[in-house]
This record gives sequence, C-alpha cells and structure tokens, in this order.
Amino acid sequence: MQHTYVSITKIDQLTFSNCEGCSFSCCDGSRFLFAPLILEDFEEVSPYFPIVFGKINEEWRALILYTLSSGGCRYHKEGKCEIYDSRPPACRIYPLSPYYEDILVDTSCHAIRTEGGEFFASKGKISSSFYHKRLEGFETKRQATQGYLKTLEEGFKPLGEIGGVTLFRYSGEGDDPYLQMHYDSLRLLPELTA
Ligand code: SF4
Ligand code: SF4
Repeated sequence: MQHTYVSITKIDQLTFSNCEGCSFSCCDGSRFLFAPLILEDFEEVSPYFPIVFGKINEEWRALILYTLSSGGCRYHKEGKCEIYDSRPPACRIYPLSPYYEDILVDTSCHAIRTEGGEFFASKGKISSSFYHKRLEGFETKRQATQGYLKTLEEGFKPLGEIGGVTLFRYSGEGDDPYLQMHYDSLRLLPELTA
C-alpha cells in the first residue's frame, strides 16, 4: 500500500466511509516497522509492544516496535486486529497522524472519500468523532518527550539495527515510571522474533 499524507489544512472536505472490504492494509507492515511515541503513550503501549529508543534525524525518539520483519504487525491476523480494543494510540487515530505542529491525513486509506460516509475533516477542522486527546498540543508533548530522552542518552545501549536505524535499550541508573514501562515491555522482544 502506498501512503499519501496531506495536511488537514490543505483539504476542502473529506469523509470516512467504513473499513468493510478493506484488507486492513494500514497494518500490513508496508508502512512501518516502528513508529514514534510520546510519553503519554507508554502506558497503553507497554503491555503489547516493546518500547525502544532510536536516533532519527539527530533526535532521540521513543519507538513502538511493531515487528522485526516485513510481515506486518504481530497482532494483524486474518485481516483483523487481535487487540482492537487495546490497540495503540497511533492505531486509534489512523488515518490521522500528528506531525510537529501539523496534523496529516493518509488519503490512501480506503475509507477516506471526498463524499458519502461520515464527515471526517475540512480545512484544518477534524470531526469530534475522530478527534483524540493524543492530537491535543502534540508538538509540546513531543518536545517534552525529547527533553526527557535527552536526560537518558548516556544510558542507552544498542540492541540492534532495523530498517537502517539502530535501536537502543536503557541500562543507566535512572528509574522512573516511564523506564519501568520500557523495561517491562522488553519482555516482548523475543515474541517478535518467534
Ligand atoms: S482504516 Fe482505512 S486502511 Fe485501515 S482498515 Fe480501515 S479502511 Fe482500511
Ligand atoms: S495493533 Fe492492531 S490496529 Fe495497530 S497495527 Fe497492529 S493490528 Fe493494526
């Protein structure tokens, strides 16, 4: 699936039909092996996915590791999400995606239309049924996450490379609830190689 992201400020009007008949291609692994997290995501993500760290464009990021292969997310089974009610925040808000101060929409999602279905977004405004708290003040939360990661960088130790990015775990002396969730989530790493 080729993805085409457009700023919601640049669209006249979009609607959302439904996922019926779609092969769940948003989760098929052609888009990502990992995706950035903000601190508020850790609690929802850590029971299901490894949380690791990586430096992308010279900035430390916390990352959700969806898979280690090209096979797509490990919970994508027979065209369904096995953890649908507990899926990570980035999955909940798809086809929306915050990007610095902007919010992008993936117009390649099969449910996104210019007419028919439910109102989705128009000229920078998102329908309340698709709005999610993760989108609120995202850039401030992203910067806070980066500030936090910067305080940890001396404790990062390489885990391996995937998709051209070196992934790290933390093994320094810090200890706080976010690090506890990171440690806890690493128990899931072997399952990604199974
Ligand atoms: S959100 Fe879009 S791409 Fe994902 S399953 Fe629904 S229609 Fe398909
Ligand atoms: S957790 Fe569910 S919705 Fe998210 S990528 Fe995996 S299968 Fe798709």
